[in-house]
Parts: sequence; structure tokens; C-alpha cells
Amino acid sequence: MENSSDVVESFFNLNGVNNLEKLKTISKNRITIIDKSGYVKYDSASDTKESHKFRQEVLEAFKYSEGFSVRESSTLNEKLIYYSRRYNENYVIRVADSYEVLEQSIRTQLLIKIITYIILNIFLFIAYKLILRKYFFDKLTNMRKVVESGKKAKELYLEEDKDLVEFWHVIKDWQNNNIRNIEKLKEEKSKLNQIFSVIDISILVIDEKEKIISSNRSFEINFFNDIHGEKYYEKIKYLKINRLVKELLLEKEPITRELHIQETGKTYLTKGRYDESKGFYILSLKDITMSKEREKIEKRFISNVSHELKTPLTNIKGYLIALEEENDPMMKKSFLDIVNNNILKMENIIMDFLNLQKVESQKALNIYPCSVHEILDEVISDMENIIKDKNVKINKKIDTLEEDGFVNLDKEKIKIVIKNLIENSINYNDKEIPIIDISLEESNKHFTIIVKDNGIGISDKDKTHIFDRFYRVDKARTSNKGGTGLGLSIIKEITDIYAGKIDLISNETDGTEIKIRVLK
Ligand code: ADP
Repeated sequence: MENSSDVVESFFNLNGVNNLEKLKTISKNRITIIDKSGYVKYDSASDTKESHKFRQEVLEAFKYSEGFSVRESSTLNEKLIYYSRRYNENYVIRVADSYEVLEQSIRTQLLIKIITYIILNIFLFIAYKLILRKYFFDKLTNMRKVVESGKKAKELYLEEDKDLVEFWHVIKDWQNNNIRNIEKLKEEKSKLNQIFSVIDISILVIDEKEKIISSNRSFEINFFNDIHGEKYYEKIKYLKINRLVKELLLEKEPITRELHIQETGKTYLTKGRYDESKGFYILSLKDITMSKEREKIEKRFISNVSHELKTPLTNIKGYLIALEEENDPMMKKSFLDIVNNNILKMENIIMDFLNLQKVESQKALNIYPCSVHEILDEVISDMENIIKDKNVKINKKIDTLEEDGFVNLDKEKIKIVIKNLIENSINYNDKEIPIIDISLEESNKHFTIIVKDNGIGISDKDKTHIFDRFYRVDKARTSNKGGTGLGLSIIKEITDIYAGKIDLISNETDGTEIKIRVLK
């Protein structure tokens, strides 16, 4: 309608407000020219002479230069839409069109526009989504890479990347927390592994498919072969252990059993357990060879003590019966001497036995500063009689760091060691004058006892056994010496408590030298 007004206006500009009939040809709309008084100078659709002065669109056009209204045309009896424009002070150009036609055209145009907008929107939406998707996908891929790499998350997004920066901060914190936790777990795991690997109990964990999940160093060293394999029976080299595992897998019942491995001569306390919640089997083997040995020694020890006591006891019984029937005073005296000797022997056995028990039961050392001179003097004075009887010559050498001769020692235990060594040097000596060199030396770390004699010496074959309990060298040579076979084992026990060392130098011509070195 505005276009039509423009055309009319141009027409008027060229021709003036004349030849109005020509207007019919230049626009298909109804054109009305109204003058200032409301008089209809021209109407392309009717010959109305009705005054249009108060038509709303005309009033508005004269007043505001443009006017607009929709109403039922009283001239054409049809709903029309009017658009008026002031041409000059005197005229208004009015263009009218059928409201229905216009409405229809507006509707059609609107529809086309709406459809166009919708299509455009859909297109934009899809494009936007694709671009956005790619954008987020790229960013998320980067994030995923960082998270998967397990590395510390660094700054990846600038602050202006508003959409993701928040999300990235959360991921970054989460990743950094994870890394910290993983580090902690790794530390804990390595600690556990260290503990797991150093404990002397051998441990094996197997899953329900007979595969080895875990094993500690002790198990690997003691029971694995070099063959590559995942299943327990491929790796464990001893049949007995394989059988035990098989039993555990079949029965699923806890097992506690002692197992002796023939090939290594070792005895193990084995325990097997099925953990139903985790679905694996745990097998542990503890080496109890030592305690088994100890048990055997204890048993042997008790039977030896009884045996050793039985001989003098039988002798005493026999000679006492003989004594009752004997009238000869000389014979009586000799029987009584024999009884006495046997009692002495029993006393020796019991004393040594008690000493050994005492040393064994008090494994802790009772260390305090004591005079080395005093220790040696006390030991020698206890043995005064035998030293005199056997013409023993004792050479003493004492060398301590402090002049007063005080050293930190367990006095009682050191006295037992020195006494037993001197006793042996006297007992196993067939010289007219047994000579014993006793040397007590102190260094910064050690205290050393050396007892050297000119006695009968010890053969090489006996050297390895003389520290065993009740071991006595060839009875024929030593039976009359009244020993119990416990003296050196007591010395060894004490040296072990001290974490010390024994050196033995001996041969059957030069005699014996025993050197005991203990930590101060
Ligand atoms: P016991 O002296 O009571 O028999 P020991 O354990 O002290 O027991 O000694 C074990 C054995 O070692 C002795 O029976 C003896 O044959 C030998 N023996 C120990 N000391 C000496 C020594 N100084 N000289 C020679 N033989 C020794």
C-alpha cells in the first residue's frame, strides 16, 4: 500500500494533481484523493461525493502526515484497510485494499516467513549442535587424555573458556586428588611388599582357576622352579606341597599340617585357607626345622641326663650292697671311695645340668662393670684344691682399657666360661705339671678369653663335636676324668647369648687353645 502511495506521489510530482483517471492504471489498489475540506477529488472504486473529512486515516494524515485504519467501507460495503499519506497542505492520498485479500496475503507471507525461519533455525540448530559437539568433544578428548595419562593435571583451559573452565577445575582437582591417593597407595603397597618379602614365612595366593596371584620372596626362593608358568603346579617344585594345594582347592577347608620336605631336609608348619569372599586360597609355610631340631635335642638331652645319672646310681647301689656284706676294712674303704666318686660324678652332672638350664632360661645378659682381676681370682680360688693336687701352674695375663681392670660384663656367665675352660685344661692333661695360660683382653668392642694348655689335645675328628651336649671324646681316654660332656656346650650357649665367637686350636702334641671373643 505504501508502494502505491509512492507511485501516486511520484505521478503527482510529475503531473501535478491532474489527470486523476490515469491513476487507475498505475495501481490495482483503490486510490482516493481527498482535499482539505474532506471532498473526494478522486476515487478509483466509486463516485462517492460523501465527505471524507472525518475518516480516521484522513484526519491522521492531515495531522501527522500518515494515517491508518481498518473498517467496513460505507461506500463499498466491504471491510477495507486504509493507508493515507499527506501529499501537501491540500491533498491526502489514500490507498485502500480489501482487508480479506490483504489478510490472506499477510498470512501467506507470514507462513512463508515462519517456515523459512523454522527451517533456518533447524539448520542453525543442527550446525550449532555439530560445531558445539565437536568443540566439546575435542575439549573432553583432551581432558580424557590427561585423566587417562594419570599425570598431574596442568592448566588446560583459559579463564575465558567459561563453559569448561569450571568443569575442568573439578576434573583437575579430582585428578590431582586421585594422583595423591594413588601415590599414597603406592607407598603403602611398597611398604607392604617390603614386609611381605622380608618375612621368613613363605606365602602363596592362588585364585579359583589355580593361577598364582601373588607369592612372596621366601616362597619363590624356597619352592619355585625356573620354569615359566601361571598355574601353581607348573611353578611349585615339590610334590608334597602341590598335593597339599590340590587338597585345599578341592576341600576348601582350612588345613594346618606339618610337612617334611625330603629333598631339603626341612620341616614346615603349613597352613592353608580359602577366602570365600575374595575367591582365593592362601597358603603359608613356616620353617620349623630349628624348633623340631631343638625338640629332638631336648628329648635326647633328657634321655642322656637320665642315662648319665643311671650309671653312677647303679654303681652306688651295687657297691652299697657289697659294702654290707664286706668285712675287710681295706675293701670297705675302697668301696666307699667308689661310692663317693660316683656321688661326685652325679653331683657334677647335676651341677652342669643346672648351669645349662640356668643359662638357657636366662637368655638376657646381666651386664655391669666388674673387675676382671676379681673374676679370675674367684674362679681360681674355687678350684684351689684341684690346682694344688694336680700341681697346676697357672700364668695369668690381664689387659684392660682401664687400669683398674673394670669391664662391662655378665660376671656370673663369664665365670662359668672361665671355670669350665680351666677345668677341662686340668682334666684333660697328663703332664706332671699342667701349664695353663689364661689371658683376658679388652679392646674397644670386645672382651676376649684365651685359655691355653699343654694337655692331651683334641683330634680333628672330635673338634666338630666337642661343643655338642654330652659329647665326650673316646670314653677309653676320658672315662676316668669324671666329665659330663656338658661343659663346652654351656660355654657355647653363653657365647651365643653374647653373639660371640669361639676359636679352637688343638692338636694331640701341643695341647689346646680355646679363644672366646664376645661383644662388650
Ligand atoms: P666334659 O669335660 O664334662 O667331658 P666338655 O663339654 O667340657 O665335657 O668337653 C667335651 C669333651 O671335649 C671332653 O670330654 C674332652 O674329651 C674334650 N676336651 C674339652 N676340653 C679339652 C681340653 N682342654 N683338652 C683336651 N680335650 C678337651
